[in-house]
Amino acid sequence: MHVSVNAATSVDGKLSSRRREQISISGDGDFARVDRLRAEADAIAVGIGTVSADDPSLIRHDESHRESVRGSEASSPARIVVDSSCRTPLDSAIVAGDPDTCVLTSEAAAESRRTALRNAGVTLIVAGERRVDLPEAFATLEDRGIHRVMVEGGGELIFSLFEAELVDELTVYVGNTVIGGRDAPTLADGEGFVDGFPELELTSVDRLDSGVVLAWDVL
Ligand code: NAP
Repeated sequence: MHVSVNAATSVDGKLSSRRREQISISGDGDFARVDRLRAEADAIAVGIGTVSADDPSLIRHDESHRESVRGSEASSPARIVVDSSCRTPLDSAIVAGDPDTCVLTSEAAAESRRTALRNAGVTLIVAGERRVDLPEAFATLEDRGIHRVMVEGGGELIFSLFEAELVDELTVYVGNTVIGGRDAPTLADGEGFVDGFPELELTSVDRLDSGVVLAWDVL
């Protein structure tokens, strides 16, 4: 499976403020770039923290780009939430409408929550005891024909994916603002590394809107 991570950060590496509200970091040029990346993926994934904070629908993508890279028959990219206890709200935008939504969850999720999500049309993949076992869950996705996943955050999920050595590519839009705050989410949160830091190779640097897009391959 190919896993690409994309996020927008402030100059100081924050994804959002300490209030964890969605903040406009990039502009129209970057939205178009992200829509093209989405169009190349089989699925777009976020953590439940991002669903709670931003209520993203993950529906928008560049349809003409998708047609040119995937053919006119390609269905829209599926939507994935990483959510150990199936707390994804039933009325969240990611559950509503098309395309398919898949929740990666754990054994810890209550049966009643699993049933509620299944009844709302969500597919569940259970991997891990208390937290989602990402390598196992992603292997199951691959078995189901999902070969390219684009991850859009947040910082907890991104760190875990690096820790599990699942990330192939990272693209970061760095916007022209400083957010600050020791409790504000950053590009990679979690426990943090103390050794074995992932190494990346810079593949491109492009000015866009009032910021810069950095693309990295993970070695
Ligand atoms: P997150 O990474 O979206 O979700 C983290 C949650 O996922 C965990 O708390 C955990 O909740 C669940 N999870 C299950 N298994 C996991 C695993 N193996 N590893 C990691 N997480 C796992 O949340 P976040 O870090 O709080 O980020 C949300 C913030 O980022 C919001 O402020 C949002 O606005 C911002 N954001 C910004 C951008 C950007 O590009 N600027 C993009 C996305 C999000 P459970 O234990 O309940 O399962």
